[in-house]
Amino acid sequence: MILNTPNFSISPTHHTPNDQSVLIAFEGNQTLLRQDGDQYQLISWPDIAPYLPEQFIPFELAHSEETSIFCPPIHEAFALPEGTPFVYRDMSTFRQMETNDAALLISSFHLWSWYHKNRFCGCCAHPLTPDQYERALRCQSCGNLIFPTIAPAVIVAITCGDRILLARNARGNFRHYALIAGFVEVGETLEQALHREVMEEVGLPIHSIKYIGNQPWGVSGSMMFAFHAQADDQLALTLQESEISSAKWFDRSELEQRQNSQSIAFELIERFRKGIL
Ligand SMILES: [Zn+2]
Repeated sequence: MILNTPNFSISPTHHTPNDQSVLIAFEGNQTLLRQDGDQYQLISWPDIAPYLPEQFIPFELAHSEETSIFCPPIHEAFALPEGTPFVYRDMSTFRQMETNDAALLISSFHLWSWYHKNRFCGCCAHPLTPDQYERALRCQSCGNLIFPTIAPAVIVAITCGDRILLARNARGNFRHYALIAGFVEVGETLEQALHREVMEEVGLPIHSIKYIGNQPWGVSGSMMFAFHAQADDQLALTLQESEISSAKWFDRSELEQRQNSQSIAFELIERFRKGIL
């Protein structure tokens, strides 16, 4: 781990909310936040409690140090009355938040999304219920026990001397030049996934692979394993057009300091820019 990631625990504690707790609500890819000018923060329990209906039963998602994280009951409609100081914002708003809040929000989203996508047993289609002791969903009909899933992914800073290879995604909302990344496939090692992803996306052989660090990345339900690798910048690039719209080598001096995107990708590019990768 190279980023300052807070401790995050999903073990059920059965605590009730207190003054240190926060309430995080999601609606599709949006999350409810407190807006303060152009700043966004997690919502403290004392701030939101007066607006909640009397019969509201908070669901404990996780905790971090002294902060317990609650959300509305997973499969029930949740509507706040008009006139609250809270707004639904796209999940990408985490990039404008303080690092600790952003990390808690991202991992909470990971867990909430898992609950949201696992309502029924995959073996017998019976409704699933949260297990009392473990962070798991249990089928009362066939006994199937389902644990939260994490998809491993690799991300790599490919360099050649003072140049770094950056690529622009053909899909998705993130339109900046970025590092090559992709999910690990069944049966692959992390290193095999790296070679395959880079070869598929830009057609380059890489060598001198070095592990740098990792980051839980709940935005895509994954764990990012970050690497540094080297390649020959004289070789032709062959782009996978369905994934990559353009890719090119940037000289270290061409890189501008970016806004912190709270990601290990930002950290890798920033390290290269400063000459410490
Ligand atoms: Zn079942």
